[in-house]
Parts: sequence; structure tokens; C-alpha cells
Amino acid sequence: MAILPIVTYDDPVLRNPAEPVESNTPELQTFIDDLFETMYEASGVGLAAPQVGRSLRIFVVDADAITEAEGEGTYGPRVYINPEIVSDQDYLWDAEEGCLSIPDVREKVTRPDSIRIRYLDRDFYAHEEEHQGWFARVLQHEYDHLRGVLFIDYLGAFRKRLIRNKLNEIKSGNVDTEYSLVPKKSIPK
Ligand SMILES: [Zn+2]
Repeated sequence: MAILPIVTYDDPVLRNPAEPVESNTPELQTFIDDLFETMYEASGVGLAAPQVGRSLRIFVVDADAITEAEGEGTYGPRVYINPEIVSDQDYLWDAEEGCLSIPDVREKVTRPDSIRIRYLDRDFYAHEEEHQGWFARVLQHEYDHLRGVLFIDYLGAFRKRLIRNKLNEIKSGNVDTEYSLVPKKSIPK
């Protein structure tokens, strides 16, 4: 297993729709283990493949720290391969989100409360589940990474302006994190 460096919001890999995972290979299984190890090391509750520079439709979550604190119980570590989410737009709610690719930025995001998700687990068994509340929020955040969408995209113009300096600092590598980021290329003079 290995801890992989995480890319920041300005990396183009986070803006491309990710490619479907075609087959279950030993390399894929190692990659899944690496995603978990990287997520836990960074104290994250979810991590999507594009965040470590791989444009693949796969993400891992372990949101128990949040869901237990919010009285929603526990789900344990889970792997979502080639997921498809359908959300119920009837009830939306706001909550603060952060992202390992956007360190030190936390903002309120409006999302549907309830979703239905279809996916393959790490053994390539197909599942269909319904989720609500915080677990559904975490799944939607990670799913967005596979579509090239970041939580800051949902912010209004005013909030976007307020975080602009912070984003520029991240882009130029002026950010301290407890976990490894992909180093910024030095700008040629
Ligand atoms: Zn994220």
C-alpha cells in the first residue's frame, strides 16, 4: 500500500469527466487500498480517484466520524465503482463542506437530502441503495469529482469572491496541510 499525493482544485484532472473502470485487476485492488490509506492519512471522509490524478470512475468513503456524530449510525468503509446517482430534488438542505483538494476552505453547499445510487463494489458485485442525510451528502460530493465538479462550483458570486485569495494561495502552493499534495511545478522565468 502507498499514500498517494493529492492534487489541488486547479489541476485539470479534477475538471475532466472520469473514465469508466473496465475490469477488476490486481492493480485496481492495490489502487483501492491506496485510496483508503491516503484518505485515512489525510483524515478525509471520502476520496475520489481524480483527486490522486487518476481519471477513473471510482471513489472510497468512510464517513462514520460524521454520520455517527449526526445520529445516522455507521456505514463502514465502502468502495463505489462506476456509480450512477439519481437524486430526489424535493428536499434540499445546506451544510458546510470541505475537500482535501481545496485545503482550509469550508463553505455551505445546498444538496438534495435523498439519493439513489447504483454501483459496483470492489468485488464487482452490483448494488442499488437509497441514502439520506450526511451519508448521501458525502456520496454526492465524491460523485461530483467523477463529473469534474467541485463543491465551490455551487457557491454564489459573493462567496466565490470571498474565497478567491485563498484559492490563489492554494494554486501557488502557499498552503500547509497535514497530508501530501502534488508539488507545484516551478513557474519558468
Ligand atoms: Zn472533494
